[in-house]
Amino acid sequence: MTLKVGALSAEKGEKTQGFVRVMDTNTMIPVTLINGSEEGKTILITGGVHSCEYPGIQTAIELAKEIQPQDIKGRLMICHPLNKSGFEARRPGIVPEDEKNLNRVFPGDQEGTLTDKIAYTLVTEFQKQADFYIDMHGGEMYEQLTPYVYYVGNSTPEACERARNAASVIDCKYMVRSQATTGAYNYAGLQGIPSILMERGCNGIWDQETVNLYKKDVYNILIHLGLMKGTMTETQYKPEDLVDLIYLNSKVAGCWYPSVNAGDAVKKGEKLGEVRDYFSNPLATYYAEYDGIILYRTSTLWVDKDGGIVCYGKF
Ligand SMILES: [Zn+2]
Repeated sequence: MTLKVGALSAEKGEKTQGFVRVMDTNTMIPVTLINGSEEGKTILITGGVHSCEYPGIQTAIELAKEIQPQDIKGRLMICHPLNKSGFEARRPGIVPEDEKNLNRVFPGDQEGTLTDKIAYTLVTEFQKQADFYIDMHGGEMYEQLTPYVYYVGNSTPEACERARNAASVIDCKYMVRSQATTGAYNYAGLQGIPSILMERGCNGIWDQETVNLYKKDVYNILIHLGLMKGTMTETQYKPEDLVDLIYLNSKVAGCWYPSVNAGDAVKKGEKLGEVRDYFSNPLATYYAEYDGIILYRTSTLWVDKDGGIVCYGKF
C-alpha cells in the first residue's frame, strides 16, 4: 500500500525524503517516509514540536537517515523537525510567526495562524494514518531536565495500556500518565491512537551520547511494537509512575535562584528556590508540597511572572 503525505509518497519497499507544505503557507516540514517491504503498523515520529529541544530533533534526523525499508515491517513517517521556522530562528518553545506554543493548540485550525495550521496538518495528514505516535521532546533552552516519558491517559483503555507498555521499555527512571488534551500526542490519544511524549536532554545542548540514548529508546520501542525485528538493547532503568505532578509557576517576575536540580528527591516543606529583585531582596520563596522527584526546573537567571519554575511529581 502506498504511503502518502501531502505531495510525498513512498511505494512498498521505498523510502522518500522531502518537504510537506503546511496548507496554503510557505512553511515546509522536512519529512521522511519509509514504506517497509512487508505490511505492518504505521508509526509516526516527530521531533521539534518545540524548536530548541535538540536531542529529539537530531534523533529524528538520524533515524530518518538510518532506517531503510528492508529494516521494517510496516510504515514510518518522521518529521524532523515539525516546527522548522522556530528551529531556524532559534526561538525556544514557540512558532515565531505567531508566537504560539505548538503543543498547546491541537487539533489546530485550518482558519487559524501558522501554528494552528501546522497542528491541523499534523492531525489530518499524519496522525490520521498512524497506529502509534512517538513525540520526542526534552527540556527547552531555559530548562534543566531529567529524562522521563509521558503516555496518554485520555484515550481508550486499550490505547492507554499500549502507550504505557511502550513507555515501559524506555531507559529512564520515571513515567507519567498525562490527562492533557491540547498537545500533539494528547490529541492523537483522544482519537484512540496510543501515543507517548519522551523527554531527554535540555538547556539547548545536544551531544551524540544523548542522541544515542534517545535512538536506543526509539529502536527498542519499534522492536516492542513489531515494526523492527531483533532483540531490544538492555536498559539501565525501568520507569516507575509519578503522579499528581505540580507545574509550579512564579507569582512574580525576577531573578530565579533554584535550590534543587532536575532528578533530585525532595522532602515535603523543602525549599525549591526563591525569586529576588535586582538588589537581592527576596520576592517569593517556594517549598515542596510533598515528598517528590524534580523532573525539570527553569535554569535561566530570569523568570517571568506566571512563568514555570519547577515541575515535580510523587510516587
Ligand atoms: Zn517540549
